[in-house]
Amino acid sequence: MNAKTFAGSEKYMRRAHQVIPKGVNSSRRAVLRPTPLAFTSALGSRITDVDGNEYVDYVAGYGPMLLGHQPPRVIEAVRTQLAAGVLYGGQHQAEAELAERIVRMVPGAEMVLLNVTGSEAVQAALRMARAATGRRKTVKFEGHYHGWIDPVTANGPGSPAGTGPAPRPAIVADHHLVGPEILICPWNDPEALADLLGRHGADVAAVIMEPVAVNGGNLWADEGYLATARRLCDQHGCLLVFDEVVTGFRLAPGGAQQRTGVTPDLTVLAKALGAGFPISAVAGRAEVMRIAEEIGHAGTYNGNATSVVAANAALDVLESDQDSLYPRLERLTNELADGIERLAARHGAPLQALRAGALIRLHWGAPTPARTYADTLAGRTEPLRHLSEHLIRSGVHARDTGLWYISAAHTDDDVDRTLAAVDQALAAVSRQPV
Ligand code: PMP
Repeated sequence: MNAKTFAGSEKYMRRAHQVIPKGVNSSRRAVLRPTPLAFTSALGSRITDVDGNEYVDYVAGYGPMLLGHQPPRVIEAVRTQLAAGVLYGGQHQAEAELAERIVRMVPGAEMVLLNVTGSEAVQAALRMARAATGRRKTVKFEGHYHGWIDPVTANGPGSPAGTGPAPRPAIVADHHLVGPEILICPWNDPEALADLLGRHGADVAAVIMEPVAVNGGNLWADEGYLATARRLCDQHGCLLVFDEVVTGFRLAPGGAQQRTGVTPDLTVLAKALGAGFPISAVAGRAEVMRIAEEIGHAGTYNGNATSVVAANAALDVLESDQDSLYPRLERLTNELADGIERLAARHGAPLQALRAGALIRLHWGAPTPARTYADTLAGRTEPLRHLSEHLIRSGVHARDTGLWYISAAHTDDDVDRTLAAVDQALAAVSRQPV
């Protein structure tokens, strides 16, 4: 382990603590060890903190940086737009261009509405589903994450009230909505979904899922599961909503729905869509999308010019370079994941690296391969936190959750350096008392 110091980040956090709760603007950032880092710049696959430490970055802004930091065509498009204004409070031509692109790329998209964050696009999709069906309830799956709006924070990682049995504090809205509005279903269990919809289907507006349960452990749906969910939704008149905030554009140009061949009624997109600029979208069947003409849709920053031109440029790269880009992302991801598992075996560490497109999720001590959310919860979080801390000390920025984002800017050299750091980190973690 080399002797990185984090004095600048620590100093920043002391100052921030005085005026920002926990010193961070998204709670999980506060738990990073050895200390929450304050950054000054990022380029390509690298990110640099206030102490001048450079890291190979697998946090990727929590996922949006699929093209790496400062992808030239995106930055150029935004620079050009900045000279022409940021926010008009009216239309500009790039909005329809973006919608057309999304319709071309994403199988379930016939029409598109823009928002700013994934959370509010989820809110818009669920509201549209309620309006379109005249029903009140939503089915969500154990461990799936759909942002921080109240109704869907129950039973998911990152829930403000935690995922444990005791909601804390009870007044946080999510848990009191479970039952009346939100029905929770185990993932990868077709009988459970059939049973739930058999009992409540007539009241269910939407069945929302991450089509690959990224936040619930990076778990692919079992063979036939998504098709079963599709069929059950049709049978009960519920709308199937894919939250492709993470998987959209990352697993394939058309996201998980392209990879799996199952088409939802509505899709939520964000993260990679904007290459780091805040933008999200709801896309779906025209018949459902047109409900927005009746119930409305709002947002001061919806369709802001910088985000829209950034998204157009990002999707242009993903669409035009898809034949080389996606196979390369998959190759790098597999090399990294295989390498981590090989090193884990050598160090006797019970570590598995589940992959989906340009995404890896590490699990420590979980049944192999993890298939259900319960499997992933059987894994241990503390060794992953130690691993992340050791990696940060050796110049690899990887989250303590074990979720790694691979980008088009990562190189073979990055993978080699990362595996060398993982080797050292696993040696250290394996020595630590359990
Ligand atoms: N859905 C999924 C699957 C996500 O992973 C996230 C964010 N991690 C969201 C929704 C919420 O998006 P945002 O943070 O932009 O509100």
